Amino acid sequence: MCGIVGYIGKKNSLPIIIEGLRRLEYRGYDSAGVSIINDKAKVLNYKKVGRVGEMNDNIDKDIFQGSIGIGHTRWATHGVPNDVNAHPHFDMDDNVVIVHNGIIENYKQIKTKLLAEGFQFSSDTDTEVLANLINYYFRQTNDFEKSVRLALNEVEGTYGLACLCAKEPDKVIVARNGSPLLLGVGIEETIVSSDASAVINHTKNVVYLEDGDMAILTKNGFKMKTIHDVKIYREAHKIDFLLEDIEKSGYDHFMLKEICEQPDTIQNTYRGRINFDSGIAKLGGLDSVFDKMLNAKRFIITACGTAWHAGLVGEYMIEQFCRIPVEVEYASEFRYRRPIIDEDDVVILISQSGETADTLAALREAKKFGATTIGIVNVIGSTIAREVDAGTYVHAGPEIGVASTKAFTSQVMSLALITMMIAAEKNTISKESLIEIATELRNIPGKIKKMIDAKEDYKKVADAFKNANNVLYLGRGFNFPVALEGALKLKEISYIHAEGYPAAEMKHGPIALIDENMPVVFIAPQDRTYDKIISNIEEVKARKGRIIALASDDDDNINSYADYVLRVPKTLALFAPILNVIPLQFLSYYVAASRGCDVDQPRNLAKSVTVE
Ligand code: GLU
Repeated sequence: MCGIVGYIGKKNSLPIIIEGLRRLEYRGYDSAGVSIINDKAKVLNYKKVGRVGEMNDNIDKDIFQGSIGIGHTRWATHGVPNDVNAHPHFDMDDNVVIVHNGIIENYKQIKTKLLAEGFQFSSDTDTEVLANLINYYFRQTNDFEKSVRLALNEVEGTYGLACLCAKEPDKVIVARNGSPLLLGVGIEETIVSSDASAVINHTKNVVYLEDGDMAILTKNGFKMKTIHDVKIYREAHKIDFLLEDIEKSGYDHFMLKEICEQPDTIQNTYRGRINFDSGIAKLGGLDSVFDKMLNAKRFIITACGTAWHAGLVGEYMIEQFCRIPVEVEYASEFRYRRPIIDEDDVVILISQSGETADTLAALREAKKFGATTIGIVNVIGSTIAREVDAGTYVHAGPEIGVASTKAFTSQVMSLALITMMIAAEKNTISKESLIEIATELRNIPGKIKKMIDAKEDYKKVADAFKNANNVLYLGRGFNFPVALEGALKLKEISYIHAEGYPAAEMKHGPIALIDENMPVVFIAPQDRTYDKIISNIEEVKARKGRIIALASDDDDNINSYADYVLRVPKTLALFAPILNVIPLQFLSYYVAASRGCDVDQPRNLAKSVTVE
């Protein structure tokens, strides 16, 4: 996934690149590196395993001075995280220097060809092959831009890249295919970055590269072309968030900050999108496809990870309230299993970053078959947002913590709004119920706030099972996806093995795992499945499992069954997942924090998964 930052202008580039890389570290943090061209046109290189902070501590700032440079924070796909595999990569002549995000799928064939030409390689990466391929053409053409173009026409796969050339030290060339890249356009300077967070401190004007775009940056500005050498113009956009939105603001971790932001983020998702008197929701971004949605033969929701869990909640909502069949698919499976799709299908793609490679591939697959595509995306201007037929932004603001929290609740809220919109139009819901839902919607931020104020209670429960090796999460109906999400949160950041199941499934297998060491989290709100859940709790108790029950705040009955209780305000079924996930987010956060885990940057993970 990797983060890329490059600078060309009048200022010293190193601090700008390092600051940018720090903000992009959520994308990967296996190793970090920079290449800077100094005022004697010499290329200076630094790359090492470890975080950007370590690079900042160790790099010699007196030497690494220069107003042109590129930097990288890596999430390894090819080759273990070590110093040699770290980016930037150089060709064997030390002429071309490159930072790359993505995968060069045909790197083996290209490597074989270059080896036959006498090229040598020192790393295991696909990226080094690309550096050598560019230089292979440079040896023939003596023209950096042309060499990049020729090389990119030969590679298959994905890239967001920035490269320098020792023999043409006055420029940076960048290109994109499948991995995000944008230019921050400042006064007498251009910054290239994987996302806007690395440029926001310098400029609010950004130009997004599209697939197949190249840009040639010099101190006088930049020109854009396709990789087929056709001149292009891409409009500039204004970034709409503030620097403080992407800083920790006094919280120990981004994840904690983001959990605590949810009363606001959830309001931002529905603000201006619902008439509280009638209960009618309206998502303007879906106007152009609304008829298609109403007449859809079925909906297919496709996503990965946490967003897939939101999709599963969407299935329960849309089927129950709109009576439209819904299928939920892992984007990675959807893409490759030759799904049957046609023009009467509506495919909903959910992605926080809007750059998730598998989800993007699923989108393109769905479009090929003529389905109507709808995006539920957080990052404005991201690839999925741009490529779907229509969409809605969840407006959760920048999410930096690798474990998604506020994006999940906003995705679920977006799906609830879509459900209300369709159900109202199709008359599959009564006017009274719509108004009841809209009235309750207004209470949701306050109820989340109440839980945030009670976070110390959740922390106490977390302390009680921070040493567990396995945890089971069980829920029914709308809360089954919440059980999956609770388990995923715990796995991601505390490295405790956890599984989510529909509560009734327990007796078909997982019950064999239960003993006195096994904590079981039951999501047990007082809805129509309450009695069934209580029976499941009894079954676990009979096997001496430790019960943690998530229960409505006025449920006194639960105390006699559970060892620990996580209290949740009562709400309607439609909003239960939004409220019920919050104690589970806190639980995983506090368990991970007390185990000393790196909450915001858990091992092996990265936030925006832009590789398949
Ligand atoms: N394939 C490159 C590497 O392994 C870049 C990885 C990525 O973008 O995640 O270093």
